Amino acid sequence: MAYPQIEVDLNKLRHNLTYLSEYIKDRDIKVAGVTKVFAAHPELVKVYDENESIDYLADSRVENFSHYPSESTKPKLLLRVPMLSEIEAVVENVDISLNSEIETIRRINQVAKEANKVHEIILMIDLGDLREGVFEEEEVFEYVEEIISLEHISLKGIGVNLTCYGAIIPDRAILDRLAKYKNEIEAKFDISLELVSGGNSSSLHLLDPDAEGLPDEINMLRIGEAFVLGTETAYGHPIPEMHSDVFTLKAEIIEYRDKPSLPIGNVGQDAFGNKPTFIDKGIMRRGILGIGKQDVDFENLTPRDERIEIIGSSSDHLIVDFTQAQDDYKLGDIVEFDISYGPLLNLFTSAYVEKTFVNK
Ligand SMILES: *Cc1c(COP(=O)(O)O)cnc(C)c1O
Repeated sequence: MAYPQIEVDLNKLRHNLTYLSEYIKDRDIKVAGVTKVFAAHPELVKVYDENESIDYLADSRVENFSHYPSESTKPKLLLRVPMLSEIEAVVENVDISLNSEIETIRRINQVAKEANKVHEIILMIDLGDLREGVFEEEEVFEYVEEIISLEHISLKGIGVNLTCYGAIIPDRAILDRLAKYKNEIEAKFDISLELVSGGNSSSLHLLDPDAEGLPDEINMLRIGEAFVLGTETAYGHPIPEMHSDVFTLKAEIIEYRDKPSLPIGNVGQDAFGNKPTFIDKGIMRRGILGIGKQDVDFENLTPRDERIEIIGSSSDHLIVDFTQAQDDYKLGDIVEFDISYGPLLNLFTSAYVEKTFVNK
C-alpha cells in the first residue's frame, strides 16, 4: 500500500447515487451526475454509468470525458462554458454543452457543420450568482433568436448555476424567473424547450417536504457534491439517508516525538510567505504525516480521531498534535481523515495520492 491514499467505498457511493437520484426523479426531474469532483476517475465514473437512475453524465473539463467508458450510452454534458480554443474537442466528445457567449455558439455551429453534426446546447442565464450566464433580459431573447437560426445548433433548453461563486442560495423567487424565461421564450419564438436545468446540489433543499418546492418547469438538476459527500449545499446540511464517509484520506506518521509548541529563534516568513503565530501549549506529542500542501489544503480535513488536531503544514508535511492520544499511535501508523469538497478535488488531482477502492 502506498500513502497518502484516498480510499473510496463504492458501495456507499452506489447507495448515495441510488437514494438521491430516485428521490429527485420521483419529482419528474432528470439527473445529471457530475464527475469533476473526482477528476472523472474511471472507477467512479463506471459506478455512475451503471446507475439506471442517472440520466446524464456531466463534467466541466473536456479531457475528463476521455476517462468515460466507451460503451456508455448516457448523454455527456459539458458544464463549463467552452473555450474558443477547444470547440473541436467539444463537438467531437460532448453531446450537450452549457453556453453563455454568442461568439462561442457561432463557432460551435461552424465546427459542427464541418463535422456534419448538430450540437445541443443549454443557454445559461445569470440570475444573480455572477458566474456564467447571459445577464440582461433583452440579451437572452436576442440570443435565442439567433441560436434557433443556426442549423447545426439545437437549443435543448435553458439553465442556471447558483451558489458556486456568489454563494446565492436558490429560492423559489429566483427559480420562478427561470421558469418565466422558459414560458416567454416558448411563446415568443413558438418553440419548445425540452430542458430547464435548475442548478446543482444547492437546489436540493427546495425539494424538502416543508420547503417551497421547485417550479414545475424545472426538469433537470446537475448533482456533484451531494452524491459524493451526502450533503445538500445551500446550508451544508447532511442528508440523513446518505453516507458522508464515502471517502477516507489515509496518511502515514513519519516522525513522532515530544517537542515544544513554540518554535525557537526569531520568527520570519514560512515557506509560503506568511508570518505564522503560535500558541504556547508547552511540550506536545507532535506527529508529522507524509502529506502536504502539494496534495491538499489541510484547513478542510477533519481527523476521524477527535483527540488529535492538525496544527499546520508545509509543501510535503502535515503536523499534528497527538498529545491527547499519544499512547495509541506510533511511527508508521496510518491516520484517517474525513474530507470536504476542496480536499476531494485536490486529492483526486494529485498524482502523489494513491486511489484505492473497496467493494468494487
Ligand atoms: C460543478 C457544477 C455543478 C455541480 O455542482 P455541485 O454543487 O457539486 O452539485 C453543476 N453545474 C455546473 C455548471 C457546475 O459547474
